[in-house]
Amino acid sequence: MAKQEDLFKNVISHAKEYGYIFASSEIYDGLSAVYDYGQNGAELKKNIREYWWKSMVQLHQEIVGIDAAILMHPTTWKASGHVDAFNDPLIDNKDSKKRYRADVLVEDHAEKILQKAQKEIEKARKRFGEAFDEEQFVNTNDRVQRYLSERKEILERLGRSLTNEDLKDVKALIEELDIADPETGSRNWTDVRQFNLMFGTKLGASSETASNLYLRPETAQGIFVNFSNVQKTGRMKIPFGIAQTGKAFRNEIVARQFIFRMREFEQMEMQYFVRPGEELKWYEHWKEVRQKWHFSLGLGEENYRFHDHDKLAHYANAATDIEFSFPFGFKELEGIHSRTDFDLKAHEEFSGRKLRFYDPELKENYVPYVIETSIGLDRMFLAVLSASLKEEELKDGSSRTVLKLPAILAPVKAAVLPLVKKDGLPELAQEIIEDLKWDFNVQYDEKDAIGRRYRRQDASGTPLCITVDHDSLEDRTVTVRYRDSMEQKRIPIAEISKLISEETDFKHWMKK
Ligand code: ATP
Repeated sequence: MAKQEDLFKNVISHAKEYGYIFASSEIYDGLSAVYDYGQNGAELKKNIREYWWKSMVQLHQEIVGIDAAILMHPTTWKASGHVDAFNDPLIDNKDSKKRYRADVLVEDHAEKILQKAQKEIEKARKRFGEAFDEEQFVNTNDRVQRYLSERKEILERLGRSLTNEDLKDVKALIEELDIADPETGSRNWTDVRQFNLMFGTKLGASSETASNLYLRPETAQGIFVNFSNVQKTGRMKIPFGIAQTGKAFRNEIVARQFIFRMREFEQMEMQYFVRPGEELKWYEHWKEVRQKWHFSLGLGEENYRFHDHDKLAHYANAATDIEFSFPFGFKELEGIHSRTDFDLKAHEEFSGRKLRFYDPELKENYVPYVIETSIGLDRMFLAVLSASLKEEELKDGSSRTVLKLPAILAPVKAAVLPLVKKDGLPELAQEIIEDLKWDFNVQYDEKDAIGRRYRRQDASGTPLCITVDHDSLEDRTVTVRYRDSMEQKRIPIAEISKLISEETDFKHWMKK
């Protein structure tokens, strides 16, 4: 665990040192759970957003993208259920005065039980070696079975009490499980209360006429209220999708995990409209497509797992999270929800407008069902950053810090480095930059010895270094050095652009 905590601390300090993430308004000591993206962070974030957008919108003929406003008519949030039900159960520790999400305390406890089961499995794997049959072991080992059913019972009971809004039982569960304040060990808890997560604001100048608004807590509703606009003007036929990326705001009760849980964050969401009755087929389809998208980035398939929901939101008939192995454990990265016709029906009711589709094949009018894929851009950023940061021992006994970002996401694709600061090498390097800059984000660096410059680019995540030396002046070739393998090869200046394309552009990456 200590090692994991160290890793997380390293990720946070590396993010600052290399211009990825700063605390918001840091000169005033920051604002809790709000962050700014620096010069490299803004590029990485933009590249993740673009990778998502191109995969979801550009590669799917039946999906289009929109950009709805953050401020929406307040009735939207009545209809969606957010005014009445967008709550988190909170609990305070009377001794430490720390505030927690009651459901998260219970879930973390259940996760610890799961880890105990996993420890048993790993022990057995070592003992039995090659012959180990994990499935058989899990099904027949009493201790593992006990852990798994204990965990299941806890999560099911939590799910039931949250669905029934039985907050007394959530408190009872915390007490029965003997859950202590993770920071101080105290078990002196208050009752569990509901807390609405929406930020309110006002529209209009004078306080008498101003009306109450909310900052949107999710981008999805901007899609639902535009369903008919897009369907009609785009002549969309079911099944079709509407995608959107943008800011969302939640007044989170506890926000202690860097950019994992922020009060202002960005979502990338897609709502896929389908025939009633076909939603579970499409739900399975999108689970698979989204998993493939994650795997395509090469962050390690073992770092992902699905977690099906025990407690379904008021609008869903199936839901799963794609969880990622963050430095603080497996946590939700993306949600895939079968939202039924809940949202469109609610907006029909509250607005008095029809939100239907005439299906020419069925010769029938209906309110479509919806499958949603919803991923936090900032959480994806954290997943990419934490899985990419490595300390490596090298053959010569030295070590290096390297940020092995997927090349397609890297902020700077190539650094162009003159071996020395004289003899016309800087001029040739600048000439190369002038040619590359139209297609790629490239950087010039002439300060320090070449080895130090390589290390600096490794640590900031640049996949390629292009070195200009005296031979380059004669034969117009350069040395290309690869960040991950540290291999070097000589290529003509005229081929640099093609090589960067092959390593970093969308088409080559997707085809690979
Ligand atoms: P959690 O259980 O972690 O609070 P959630 O289930 O409320 O998340 P959703 O409402 O399903 O999250 O939102 C979809 C996605 O938006 C999440 O999978 C996550 O990636 C992202 N997200 C939600 N809340 C935050 C937040 N406070 N900060 C950063 N990203 C967030």
